[in-house]
Amino acid sequence: MRATRTKLCAGCQQAAPVLFRVQYDASQAWIFVCPACLPTVKENNPHYAYGGTWKASKK
Ligand SMILES: [Zn+2]
Repeated sequence: MRATRTKLCAGCQQAAPVLFRVQYDASQAWIFVCPACLPTVKENNPHYAYGGTWKASKK
């Protein structure tokens, strides 16, 4: 049985073990970004909102 949980970062399109669920524009749509891309969606963004952390390995 394969139990692979992967999500792709909305910024770099790479799978990451940890992603942050954020809102980044007025549509209030949730996207997932990796820690490396977080500053790029967060900086100077009045629409930025943090909605939690997603982890590939769940307890
Ligand atoms: Zn990324």
